[in-house]
Amino acid sequence: MDAFALVAGGAAAFAVASVAAVFHLVHGRRALLRKAAALEDTVEVLTDRVFELAESEERHRGLIDAQGDLIVRRDRQGTITFANRAFGDLVGVSAAELVGLDRGPVVIDRSEERREADGSCSADEMIATPTGHRWIAWRHHPIRDGEGRCEEMQSVGRDITDRKAAEAALALSTARAESANEAKSRFLATVSHEIRTPLNGILGMADLLLDTRLSPDQKTYADAVKGSGEALLTLIDEILDFSKIEAGRLDLDLAPFDLLPIIEGAAELLGPRAQAKGLDVATSIAPDVPARLTGDATRLRQVLLNLAGNAVKFTETGGVTIAATRDEDHLILTVADTGPGIATADVERIFGEFEQGETTFSRRHSGTGLGLAISRRIVALMGGTLTVATALGEGATFTVRLPMTIAATAGTPDERLADLAVLIVSPSPIERAALVRRLTARGADATACDGLLDIPPGLFDTAILDYRLGEESVAAVLAVLSERVQRTVLLVRPAERSAVSAWRQKGIGGWLVSPVREASLLMQMRGEGPGPAERAAEGEGSADQPLVSAGPALTVLIAEDNDINALLCRKLVEKLGHRPVWVKDGRAAATTALDPAASIDLVLMDMQMPECDGLSAAKMIRAGEGDGRRLPIIALTANAFAEDRAAAIAAGMDSFLTKPLDRDRLAEAIDLYGKVTKPGPARATRRKAKVRR
Ligand code: ADP
Repeated sequence: MDAFALVAGGAAAFAVASVAAVFHLVHGRRALLRKAAALEDTVEVLTDRVFELAESEERHRGLIDAQGDLIVRRDRQGTITFANRAFGDLVGVSAAELVGLDRGPVVIDRSEERREADGSCSADEMIATPTGHRWIAWRHHPIRDGEGRCEEMQSVGRDITDRKAAEAALALSTARAESANEAKSRFLATVSHEIRTPLNGILGMADLLLDTRLSPDQKTYADAVKGSGEALLTLIDEILDFSKIEAGRLDLDLAPFDLLPIIEGAAELLGPRAQAKGLDVATSIAPDVPARLTGDATRLRQVLLNLAGNAVKFTETGGVTIAATRDEDHLILTVADTGPGIATADVERIFGEFEQGETTFSRRHSGTGLGLAISRRIVALMGGTLTVATALGEGATFTVRLPMTIAATAGTPDERLADLAVLIVSPSPIERAALVRRLTARGADATACDGLLDIPPGLFDTAILDYRLGEESVAAVLAVLSERVQRTVLLVRPAERSAVSAWRQKGIGGWLVSPVREASLLMQMRGEGPGPAERAAEGEGSADQPLVSAGPALTVLIAEDNDINALLCRKLVEKLGHRPVWVKDGRAAATTALDPAASIDLVLMDMQMPECDGLSAAKMIRAGEGDGRRLPIIALTANAFAEDRAAAIAAGMDSFLTKPLDRDRLAEAIDLYGKVTKPGPARATRRKAKVRR
């Protein structure tokens, strides 16, 4: 091959290669330009995103800054990684400048830290700010990484200064209200105590006066003094009870008690008032009601007396029935009357404080409107309920439902009157219903009718003839039944008992006093002599006789600073056949009691005396007594609080009597404790359980 061809071939190859290279270059440049264009697009998109993110962060920061809460984040060393403007303002450094610093507000006070269920914790802090002290409620949340490690702590704080101020104001006003309430209760307790003392004198003196020979006018006036005094005493007791309830100081005094005397006692106490209005009062206790229960007998009696007292007060015709039944482990006490009833709209209101049914002034009955409110609270304290079933014109039945705690009973057998055929002839539906219910519950076959014309045919073991029928009707019924009845029992009201002896001669076998006591009813059904109420009623015929204690004459030391009360107490002690010795203060009481020459048998100690009070005197007597001899000391006080009783017993006293002094209670206490000092009768020790401590 020649050289030219070689050169030409090389040139051609070069040219081809060059063209290829140029082509390649052109093509590569285009690709690059395309990539560059694509990159430009991406950059634009990214720029937009960055812009959007910035905008979003701005918006979030704006939001975070705009809300009043303080927000700060710190790393594990406590260095701030984020703070919002509110936090910056609080600390006095801009939020941006705070990042990387370890700064916080000045804390003046801090509440205890509370751990929350979600792992966060919270606490309130009082901090110093340029505008004064503020309270901040902090909540600290741990911020965790993907592996659960706590990397940062986010704290959010809310200004609660206003709330704290409101809470403090509320606490202050509550404390003020409580102390005002306490002061009011103390005031009421003091005032009622102060009123009771002279009232004790009024009632006691009226009693003494009524024991003397009086003209009928004088007796009416003395009765009125006594009646008004008793009304005032009830009023004071209600107000005192109410103040105790308000102050949360009404405590129950639990002890075993017999239910029967409470129910019969309430009926007998209200008997005269009811009979004066021509109302009948009857009681009924279902035989399955346990005889002995554990509870606060005094408070239960108070509730019953209030309900039955209202029933008598508001009822004009018919009568009142007090009944006790059992519903499994509950005791149900009902007081039913045939009075005006209560309008549905008033039913709940009357249980409120100072509420009375009728609001027109002219129709107001006497009373505070506190009785039902107090009763409901007492029953609630006993774990029970007090309700009423009533309608206008249809009478009212108040029901107390109480959980029952049966006390160990002495085992009085549940006496049955199986198949005894009893006829009750009485014009009183109340009396008829109660007697039929009581006799039937004991297994008797009891029938009732309201007069001569309705007497059913047949023979009867016993007929109860109500003296309310009138003398003529009683005689007629007696004649009609003479061949058909084995025994006739006359039912009289206490005021009519003088009629009984004449009727005994006309063939009456026995008699009962209404409201009829269960024991008397059973005795009469068994055909035995007069029951306890009847014996007591027969004894009352000679009421002028002084009340003389059954025990030996004692020397009774009376420590009492109030002259009138001392006079009353001395007279009562004298009437009981004892010799009173009077001292005016505790120190003299202790000296006399411990003086062998005075030979004191028993001390009646007023609790409140100037300088040396009853408690200190009792302690002095106990300290001064040698071994062996223990002088009975009975506390006398106008305060009926359980804690006073406890204080008296703790100071070494033996028993406790409340003023106004009740002479039967005084007689019982002197009899009982007086005998303890005089050697001998085992009866005294046995009976000791009867006087409640
Ligand atoms: P008070 O008897 O002192 O007014 P209570 O709280 O005992 O106060 O009674 C409140 C009101 O309930 C009475 O004023 C009376 O209107 C009404 N109330 C209570 N018992 C009876 C009842 N047995 N029959 C009719 N209304 C009654």
